Formats: sequence, structure tokens, C-alpha cells
Amino acid sequence: MIKVYTTKIDKTIIAPCGMNCGVCRAYLRDREKCPGCGSTDEMIFKYCMICRIRNCEELRAGSSGYCFSCEKFPCARLRQLDKRYRIKYDMSMIDNLNMIKDTGIDRFMVAENKRWACEKCGSLICVHNKKCSICGFQR
Ligand code: SF4
Ligand code: SF4
Ligand SMILES: [Zn+2]
Repeated sequence: MIKVYTTKIDKTIIAPCGMNCGVCRAYLRDREKCPGCGSTDEMIFKYCMICRIRNCEELRAGSSGYCFSCEKFPCARLRQLDKRYRIKYDMSMIDNLNMIKDTGIDRFMVAENKRWACEKCGSLICVHNKKCSICGFQR
């Protein structure tokens, strides 16, 4: 059966660190899927379950649920993650968070849905391998 993402990515899938779990390899695959950072500990990947950003005390104290509300933003651990993603995957969590902060989550989602839409079929391109999860188109 062909899986087509007509409604695209929902804002609830954006992690506090700015990661769009909706385009994560682990989220997009069919088997042993990770439901995203906002899910319960038992459901998500161990690597993300023990993530120090997801479990950060300051995050709970902040007003928005995202790292940008924190006084330490962007802290060293977020900068480290951001650097890794910028270099390896051409994506910046800090840029994402700044955009959410400046324009609001709804506008950010419009931009994200455009950014990750497959040129061939309109489904989602994975941030990690830049491949469409449905038609296989490779960016
Ligand atoms: S593995 Fe991590 S980044 Fe990927 S969907 Fe799960 S929580 Fe999000
Ligand atoms: S920016 Fe603040 S809330 Fe986010 S991980 Fe760093 S210390 Fe925690
Ligand atoms: Zn496609």
C-alpha cells in the first residue's frame, strides 16, 4: 500500500531542541518506528530517551517547551548537537528554534513542509539520508 503524507508534518512532532522528528529516519520507516521525542519514554528510541536536552530541567522550567525560552539558550550541549547536524545533515536546530521564536510555530511548519516535500511525489524527504520515504527520490 502506498503511504502518502497529505497532511504533512504536524507541529506536535517538533522536539524541544528544534529537531523535526517528522523527517527523522527512525520516524519515517515502517518497522520499529520511533514516534518522536514528544512520546513517552517506553515508545521512543533509547538514544533519544536518554537525551540530555529532552531531559533537561531548564526545559521544564521554560515557558514554551522549547529551548529558546531558556536563559542558557543556546547552551553548550545544544550547540554541540546543532554543529553535528549542520555538518552532517545540513540542518540547524538553532536556526529552527530561532524561526519558531520569531515567526511562530505555525509559520515554521509551513516552511518545514515545503522544505522537506519530495520534488517528485510530495511526500517527505528524510533529513538523514535525503531520500523520499515513499518514492525513493534522492536529493
Ligand atoms: S529517534 Fe529521536 S530524533 Fe528520531 S524521531 Fe525518535 S525522538 Fe525524534
Ligand atoms: S538550551 Fe536550556 S533548556 Fe535547552 S538543553 Fe540547554 S539548558 Fe536545557
Ligand atoms: Zn517522493
